[in-house]
Amino acid sequence: MKKLFLILAVSVFAVSSAMAQAVHKPVVGKTGIRLYNHPSYRTEIILPQVKGYNIYKGDFHVHTIYSDGEVTPRERVREAWYDGLDIIALTDHLELRSYEKFMLKAHAPYNKDGKPYQYIRGGAGNKTDHTTPIYCDLDATYEEAVQYAKNEEIPVMVVRGTEIWRNPAVIGEYNALFLTDITDVAKPDIIESLKEARKQGAIIIHNHPGWRRKTMDKSEMQEKIYAEKLVDGIEVIGGTGPTLYPKMIDRCVDEKLTIFSNTDTHRTSAQYYPRGGEIFRSMTFILAKECTEKAIKDALLKRRTIGYAANHLIGEEMWLGEFLNAAVECKVVAVNDKKEHRAFQLTNHCSVPFVFRRGKTTYTLNPFHSIRVNFGKNKENGKYNTPKFAVENMWTVGDKHPVLTIEIDK
Ligand SMILES: [Zn+2]
Repeated sequence: MKKLFLILAVSVFAVSSAMAQAVHKPVVGKTGIRLYNHPSYRTEIILPQVKGYNIYKGDFHVHTIYSDGEVTPRERVREAWYDGLDIIALTDHLELRSYEKFMLKAHAPYNKDGKPYQYIRGGAGNKTDHTTPIYCDLDATYEEAVQYAKNEEIPVMVVRGTEIWRNPAVIGEYNALFLTDITDVAKPDIIESLKEARKQGAIIIHNHPGWRRKTMDKSEMQEKIYAEKLVDGIEVIGGTGPTLYPKMIDRCVDEKLTIFSNTDTHRTSAQYYPRGGEIFRSMTFILAKECTEKAIKDALLKRRTIGYAANHLIGEEMWLGEFLNAAVECKVVAVNDKKEHRAFQLTNHCSVPFVFRRGKTTYTLNPFHSIRVNFGKNKENGKYNTPKFAVENMWTVGDKHPVLTIEIDK
């Protein structure tokens, strides 16, 4: 907890110096007066250490102008830092290039034949069915983004990834992460694509599994993909208007797959998650010792994740309980033997709120605030109870909110 207070103190200092920036003294130059100096601003999302692990924040599903996104890879890297992330995966589609159409049209008069190239396809509204990959050097766009992060000294890990998209209703979409060669993954047969990703040591996630589907049951093709062990995790929450697929929490637990929450953002994140707002962009919390590719991959494969979206937390009950207890300090502030209750002060030291329910009463414990609650005696053994709530902004197996005990801090 001590370390957490230090982080808090630093972030308070950062806030006050940001406020000082707002009343910045104008600097008179040779030709103009600069009213405001702007460093880069980052939203800090303060999370606890859980069982000796740090929590890193990753979004493993974003698009750039190299498929159907509206943002350059460089801007994705900067934006990730602004939004408080530690890790971002660039996951442009293998099968879709919305912007080449316009770029190549602009270049066409200068081509030898005066025509755009034949592999151009339009956006999602066109008549193509995205059944085959378009060969394009997505490795080059990834490498450029990584080089940019390095040159600009932006401390965000950029993951080499791609989204494989073939017939959403039947086959679904899959992100392959930590690839070594994206172009090699581009194969007409999806199983071959996924096998190539596997060969490269990729982590493969099944994206937004309910999108454009009437059922959450696996299609025949999906049965085959899962049976061939070509899936490591599921995007249990996906999309910019984040959609939770509760049944997928059960599938993750049953089939030992990792829970992910990603944005799948195509536009700038500011459109969906205004900076300084109460909701951060959707992200996956990863419990790891350090933010290296090896440690993050290890954490993902060992399923040490919690999904975050719109101030909801999605995960296995064990990790949700550990997270809550690491974030919330619980002190006994009074013992009233006459009234037979103990009064507790619960203090939330993290950036995520908790919505507690006891019977019909709901309490919201906001970030960096405290609440006082009383708990009486256990009728059977006469001992004082420890705070215990259903946590309504947490979701776990069985489409349920976990009922968690908050241990008293010594
Ligand atoms: Zn996508």
